[in-house]
Amino acid sequence: MTQSAIEIRGLKKTYAAQKNAPAKEALKGIDLDIPEGSVFGLLGPNGAGKSTLINILAGLVIKTAGSVKIWGFDQDVNPRQSRAAIGVMPQELNLDPFFAPRAALEVQAGLYGVPKSERRSDEILAMVGLEDKANAYARTLSGGMRRRLLLGKALVHHPRILVLDEPTAGVDIELRQMLWDNVRKLNRERGMTIILTTHYLEEAEEMCDEIAIVNHGEVAARDSTANLLGRLDAKAMVIHPEGAVETLPEAPGLDVSRKGDAIFVQYRSQDTSAEDVLGAVRAAGIRIRDVKTQEADLEDVFLSLTRSRAAV
Ligand code: ADP
Ligand code: MG
Repeated sequence: MTQSAIEIRGLKKTYAAQKNAPAKEALKGIDLDIPEGSVFGLLGPNGAGKSTLINILAGLVIKTAGSVKIWGFDQDVNPRQSRAAIGVMPQELNLDPFFAPRAALEVQAGLYGVPKSERRSDEILAMVGLEDKANAYARTLSGGMRRRLLLGKALVHHPRILVLDEPTAGVDIELRQMLWDNVRKLNRERGMTIILTTHYLEEAEEMCDEIAIVNHGEVAARDSTANLLGRLDAKAMVIHPEGAVETLPEAPGLDVSRKGDAIFVQYRSQDTSAEDVLGAVRAAGIRIRDVKTQEADLEDVFLSLTRSRAAV
């Protein structure tokens, strides 16, 4: 049986109310096991709670309830061991402007209590392609270089689990490729468990063995990438009717809801044709004024997955 690298039970986070913002329940009771040795994706729209989850794993945000085990160590019982098992590349570019890359890695290693003899700063700099910037002022580094340095910092204590929070948001193709190559190598050659968050379906598809979809602070779906992509084969049709609609059309495989005066139908192109959809609409006695098809966007897919799960 595969072991869990991460075991999350009943995890909740409510951010306290601020002067101009009410309290926010960012995580509503997450249960999640992430298998050892996998590349695992947390996929969800902005505001879903991905960073909150990651930052709790990293020890940067204090949970409201629930438990987290990292590499078998409960965060509350064995904080030091659980922290040592995980390296996090945060979403924010929060680098100390006074440290050059090599010094930044050394300081980070010091914080984690890595003895001098076990430090691999030059190896890490080479891996992230910053060897010729080893002693450059941090403020002279480009955004891409800073991101690579953050990856390096996450690796100084040789963690078994590497977490990347939106690693490629807003980075150019070349850097994206480099990050992906590095991540794959760490997974394949060192057996490192990788967790990455993204709001790009394509990125999750390309990188991950398994995916959990997070939406509104809950896990809406969790499956192998192949299975999940099958479920995401979603198409949508917006139908503008003549006059008011009394009863919505109904048919197997259709997910129907109202969008203003229009009818919004989601279906899977594998099982249902556009003709089937229109047939169901006509069968409900609706006269069609106008039809538009669209590829469902992620937010719609999340909603649909959440609804279909609630219906089970
Ligand atoms: P994601 O990373 O999926 O975009 P986040 O975890 O950053 O989502 O945010 C989840 C929700 O919690 C959002 O509504 C966000 O506004 C809120 N939130 C995040 N951080 C804080 C904070 N420090 N204080 C208050 N609310 C926060
Ligand atoms: Mg985030």
